[in-house]
Amino acid sequence: MAADDDVLIIGGGPVGVCVAYYLAEAGCHVTLLERDELCSRYGGAYANAGLIVPSEVYPLAAPGALGQGLKWLLDSGSPFFIQPRLDPALWRWLLLFRRACAEERMRPLMPVLRALGRRSADLFAELAVARGKSFGYEQKGWLNLYATENGLAAGVAEAAEARALGVAAEVVDAQRAREMMPGLAGGVAGGVFHAENAHVDPQVFVSELGRRAARKGADIRLATEVIGLRTVGRRIVRVMTTRGDLEAGTVVLAAGCWSPALARLTGLNLPIQPAKGYSVTVARPEGFPELPAYLAEGHVCITPLGDRLRMAGTLELAGMDMRVRANRVAGIRRGAARFLPGLADREALEIWRGPRPVTPDGLPIVGRSPRHENLIVAAGHCMLGLSLGPVTGKLVAQLVAGQTPDLDLEPVRIDRFGLS
Ligand SMILES: Cc1cc2nc3c(=O)[nH]c(=O)nc-3n(C[C@H](O)[C@H](O)[C@H](O)COP(=O)(O)OP(=O)(O)OC[C@H]3O[C@@H](n4cnc5c(N)ncnc54)[C@H](O)[C@@H]3O)c2cc1C
Repeated sequence: MAADDDVLIIGGGPVGVCVAYYLAEAGCHVTLLERDELCSRYGGAYANAGLIVPSEVYPLAAPGALGQGLKWLLDSGSPFFIQPRLDPALWRWLLLFRRACAEERMRPLMPVLRALGRRSADLFAELAVARGKSFGYEQKGWLNLYATENGLAAGVAEAAEARALGVAAEVVDAQRAREMMPGLAGGVAGGVFHAENAHVDPQVFVSELGRRAARKGADIRLATEVIGLRTVGRRIVRVMTTRGDLEAGTVVLAAGCWSPALARLTGLNLPIQPAKGYSVTVARPEGFPELPAYLAEGHVCITPLGDRLRMAGTLELAGMDMRVRANRVAGIRRGAARFLPGLADREALEIWRGPRPVTPDGLPIVGRSPRHENLIVAAGHCMLGLSLGPVTGKLVAQLVAGQTPDLDLEPVRIDRFGLS
């Protein structure tokens, strides 16, 4: 039987590579299995917005989220869309989501997100200085922009709550917002600036961290898909792949939206739904500042990435239907052009969509399986899988080493939904 510090990681997205990196650093024998390539274009992160956001303290499940979602439900051009279908897993997920939207359930999760986000941002900064800016890490902050006075008032109220949790959130008036982001359309009411936030090109970061993990001894096996998991009693004993079977010491499931299907092979139920998002990457307009922004009423993030600019947004609960809907792409462009008219007809260099692994309460699932001795789950990172990759990797490495994790894992444990 393989030793427990002989670790097989399933999935080579931001979470899987961060786990591989910190485990290899801790001296474990690590094998990472990825069915495609690292940060696969078919995964959830390839052309995401690249934001590292310790300022994000509101989970996806928040009061009003469901009501707003229902209002948009029938409008497939809206920023949030549920494809109605008879899938019991979706309905179970929606019930759990509705429960998690209650104010008294959401509030205690805000400091948890803050602690995870802050620790992860520190780890990003550490990784960035370790070998120069080799993955394009920039810490220039993040500007939330509001087109309307109502929007700004809501943003200012959220900023006050975030500040109470230690988040750097500075309210800026319209004039200051214009100085920070030249080219803004008329009619912008103001913004909130988060100085702590940073950005990277997700694909460059994941590939670079994979290389660093390999240099520390991790065996990164690409084009290797896990097709079966054999359990005996409370242990996973074999991991079957398209390139042969492997003996399992510890197995870390970090396969994003594909984690529930793999977990089911072992009898474990993970309530994770795919939430499709889109991005449109264009050539960066001349003079566009090194400052990512969130355009609140447009529901679009904008990130400068070298000579490109990426607009990202929308959330579509449509299962694994990965069709590109032209009206969603148009919705992102419209949302961006409302604030930055110069972006309206810039030619797309790349249109991408990918599935975010969303849990009902908006927190990831990180911890040991209650059903197995040697399975750790690191999945369900919702809108924050890049941002929370390093802290997840560190926490999993601590679990494997039998150390007390840096942060309390109780709020992110697998069985908190009462399903496993
Ligand atoms: C439009 C958009 C914008 C986003 N912007 C941000 C952002 O700015 N900041 C942020 O933090 N997050 C962002 N996200 C969310 C983030 O990208 C996800 O949370 C993240 O991808 C989750 O990482 P992961 O490693 O868990 O899963 P994934 O990135 O999906 O990686 C899972 C990997 O597992 C592999 N895999 C699956 N099944 C198997 C198998 N059987 N065998 C082997 N390998 C397998 C897949 O090929 C894939 O490479 C965004 C997402 C979208 C869609």
